[in-house]
Amino acid sequence: MSAYIENNTLSVLNPITKETIDSFSISSKEDINKAISNAANDKIWRNLSLSKRCYNINKLRKALVKNKDLIHKTLKAETGKPDFDILIEIFTTLEHLKEISKIARKALKPSSRNSGLMKIKKAYVKYEPLGIAGVISPWNYPLATPITSSVEALLAGNSVILKPSEHTPLTSILIKKIWDETSDFKNSFQIIMGGGEVGQMMVESEDIDIICFTGSTAVGKKIALACARTLKPHILELGGKDPMIVLKDANINRSVESALFGGMSNAGQTCISTEEVFIEDCVYNEFLEKISLRIKDLKSGDSSDLGSMIMPENTNKVKDHIKEAETVCNILRGSTDDGEMFIPPTLVLEPTEDLQIVNEETFGPVMSLRKFSNEDELIEKVHKTGYGLSASIFGKNKYRIDNIVKNIKTGNVSVNDVLTHYGIASIPFGGEGLSGVGRMHGKEGLRSLCRIKSVVENRFNFIKEMWWFGRSKKIEKLLEKAIKLLYR
Ligand code: NAD
Repeated sequence: MSAYIENNTLSVLNPITKETIDSFSISSKEDINKAISNAANDKIWRNLSLSKRCYNINKLRKALVKNKDLIHKTLKAETGKPDFDILIEIFTTLEHLKEISKIARKALKPSSRNSGLMKIKKAYVKYEPLGIAGVISPWNYPLATPITSSVEALLAGNSVILKPSEHTPLTSILIKKIWDETSDFKNSFQIIMGGGEVGQMMVESEDIDIICFTGSTAVGKKIALACARTLKPHILELGGKDPMIVLKDANINRSVESALFGGMSNAGQTCISTEEVFIEDCVYNEFLEKISLRIKDLKSGDSSDLGSMIMPENTNKVKDHIKEAETVCNILRGSTDDGEMFIPPTLVLEPTEDLQIVNEETFGPVMSLRKFSNEDELIEKVHKTGYGLSASIFGKNKYRIDNIVKNIKTGNVSVNDVLTHYGIASIPFGGEGLSGVGRMHGKEGLRSLCRIKSVVENRFNFIKEMWWFGRSKKIEKLLEKAIKLLYR
């Protein structure tokens, strides 16, 4: 157990030691309504200039740097992650906050548009706040996920109500504390506590204007259904299977190391973790030989390459996937410390098509290896789960790589690389199919948190439009001519 709720109290446990770290009251309906009414009355943030919003986010970033050790300690206590995984999470978050503020300065400025033939009209687009953004986040990156979603919504001028995962709420509470200490806008960023029922109350509230949800596909579907009732906008960042494709001309050493890092870092509890590797049959043996040696070097345990699993239910699911595969497949493993929350880095060789490891997101330090010989079949297999978050392709033949990039239905693709695209704030991030709806990050993400308002101004108000009632006969002839001349 990493958290439990009893008598309206949420207790958060260290996943390794099972010691209770802290306890909180679950937010009641009244608490949520109060947070909403505080946010609704928070006109100051909404009316703040874009450059002042960016200034406040930069202040927050600097305060996070000052509090780095405390953030590290909090993340360690509630997740059991190894120090290096925590460092990467902090680094990625700070890089994101720095870059996304710069991107917002340009992306959210009113944008002038070409008015085509209607030169007498001035056309432009305004990116206005929607109002209140409800941010709901999962447990696997308790700093990066809630803060990047919240900051993007704040930069867009929205007030934010954040509900962190009940399993890892402590880092979010710390972020809120740092925000309150560094900004004058307490009501623009609020936090509520609890599990799914609290998240559901947020989603169902008519006063929350957009939901930014990161989590499982199963809950994402429930949120989409609930939002459909009022046509509430929603961004859903969901699960993935994240295939890696290794072509025959790939640098095998780089592909092996990328697969191990892509699949095993953060103990595989990353939405864009490599979960399945498809290797062209003529290089399969070489890849297998090399990865078999390297997997033996990796260990999971306290202060090892791979840290603890964070959430018990997920740990059991990962163990079930391995147990089922063990009965029919060869398995290769690294080592592990004792402890129910440590799973050794595991490779499943050539799994059969019916296994859970092939058909579901595993979300642990487990990867399957499969051969392929035909690109059409490969693409079919890659799409089999219905997920479409990210994929990676290793090889040199540009024509083949471009062809796979074109045919693969994912929101993100890396070529000769894994995971790093999440750290590039200028590119949109999100999934296709069961992996989600909409995008965060980049100008596309920022703009999706806005009311996109198209404005047309007539430049010369004294002129009557020639197509209005009472027009002369000539206008019809003019239009006929224009059609023939301009659009041939
Ligand atoms: P989850 O869906 O169980 O929970 C996510 C959040 O939703 C939690 O805060 C939870 O309390 C809340 N919730 C649960 N039921 C709800 C409901 N009915 N209405 C509203 N909120 C509700 O997911 P999880 O187990 O915390 O996270 C793991 C999943 O998240 C994995 O599938 C992973 O791939 C995915 N994930 C995706 C991304 C991405 O960017 N695509 C990033 C991180 C994690």
